[in-house]
Amino acid sequence: PDLFQPERRNSMGFDLSHQPTLDHIEAARGPFANHSWSVAPILAGQAAPKAPEPVTNPADPADSPGTVAWASPADVETALAAAKAWDAPVATRAEVLNKVADLYEENFGELFAAIHREAGKSVMDAVAELREAVDFLRYYAANAPEGEAVGIFTCISPWNFPLAIFTGQISAALAAGNAVLSKPAEQTPIISALAVRLMHKAGVPETALQLLPGAGDVGAALTSDPRVDGVAFTGSTETAMKIRAAMAENLAPGAPLIAETGGLNAMIVDSTALPEQAVQAIVESAFQSAGQRCSALRCLYVQEDIAKPFTEMLIGAMDALRLGMPWHLSTDVGPVIDDEAKRGIDAHIQQARAEGRLIHELKTPNAGTYVAPTLIRVGGIGEMEREIFGPVLHLATFKAHELDRVIDAINATGYGLTFGLQTRIDDRVQHVTDRIKAGNMYVNRNQIGAIVGSQPFGGEGMSGTGPKAGGPNYLPRFTRRTAPMGDE
Ligand code: GLU
Repeated sequence: PDLFQPERRNSMGFDLSHQPTLDHIEAARGPFANHSWSVAPILAGQAAPKAPEPVTNPADPADSPGTVAWASPADVETALAAAKAWDAPVATRAEVLNKVADLYEENFGELFAAIHREAGKSVMDAVAELREAVDFLRYYAANAPEGEAVGIFTCISPWNFPLAIFTGQISAALAAGNAVLSKPAEQTPIISALAVRLMHKAGVPETALQLLPGAGDVGAALTSDPRVDGVAFTGSTETAMKIRAAMAENLAPGAPLIAETGGLNAMIVDSTALPEQAVQAIVESAFQSAGQRCSALRCLYVQEDIAKPFTEMLIGAMDALRLGMPWHLSTDVGPVIDDEAKRGIDAHIQQARAEGRLIHELKTPNAGTYVAPTLIRVGGIGEMEREIFGPVLHLATFKAHELDRVIDAINATGYGLTFGLQTRIDDRVQHVTDRIKAGNMYVNRNQIGAIVGSQPFGGEGMSGTGPKAGGPNYLPRFTRRTAPMGDE
């Protein structure tokens, strides 16, 4: 199908420079600023009784957004027994998914409050989450396939896009008529429950969509039961490999796994790049969403000739970033998701400090799980053993004649998610993008924030199985119709 679909428009989002819009957002979020949500498994059957446990706010230890009663393996059994593929006509499924998008937009105040307080995401991030979620819903509704559904799909989603990716996986599986068993990330059960309530309200049958907020044991049960016909997963490469192994052992040989995993994303800035443009793109790519996007820039290569003044500019731009409460408009960088994440990132920074490789860091607030934006020197991307999922940028320099060596080093990581290039030489754009192995490449702009329908998102190599989310090859993988496995 055509990527350009005049009958479907992506969401406009909110204009955060427009005071009446800000007042509107404030009024909608207000009632939920201190609200306490209580959520539990949402099953087409009786959930096993469980004592609720508190959910934390990563920005503010004094606040609790509410409680969750976790799903147990007994609940997985209940859900599997009740699950039933959504056999409504394709037009009905599309209509219901469009209605979900409308309900998300009507209820944005509550969703924003939960996104701020449970996931620590900023106002700009909350706007982006809502936009992408409704874009996925409407895009998959517009392209809902006639083909036969696969059956029961397990969807396991990450905390870094607790609304958008959660909704993207589920809406694709539902558009194709599957039954969905959803396990949201342990860090964000509330947002997922709010979303599922709206999906049911719009008319998604209870047997076609069940929610199992739970830990790894629930995820393991949902990916190793032979009654499951396919799995969509976004999260770490390591977990994706475990899921693949569990599926290979227990599921039918043809059961699809659609996985979007980690990355070690690089950007190359040569000496012809526009510095102001490049610095802005870098700051957004590395530090927006507190660096907790799998698309985020991790390793920046700057051509040696300009490295000194360029690094000074970058440091200046970092100093202008503000850390603060996620729900304040002035906040550029919110907290990382939890204590465990903070400890891991802090240990990495500590090691760089001990080795004398710290170039610059901002001051970290005392309360909440914040990590201040940090710049660390590396010899090259090959020194980075793993993805540091936070606001930490690594900087390497290269000489003009070393460009191909840099490309080889980036490719040699085995990951291939996003890549950025800043240059004003046209031939170089062609040369570099022809050679780099990455799912999504961005030239002379930031490398985050792919747009449904126009920039399908996904990686290659260790970064994912493809096909890309928000693109034409994604939906066919949720049906029995065989479709080409392509990079789009
Ligand atoms: N699609 C998002 C982006 O383009 C990243 C998704 C993720 O972090 O998993 O920034």
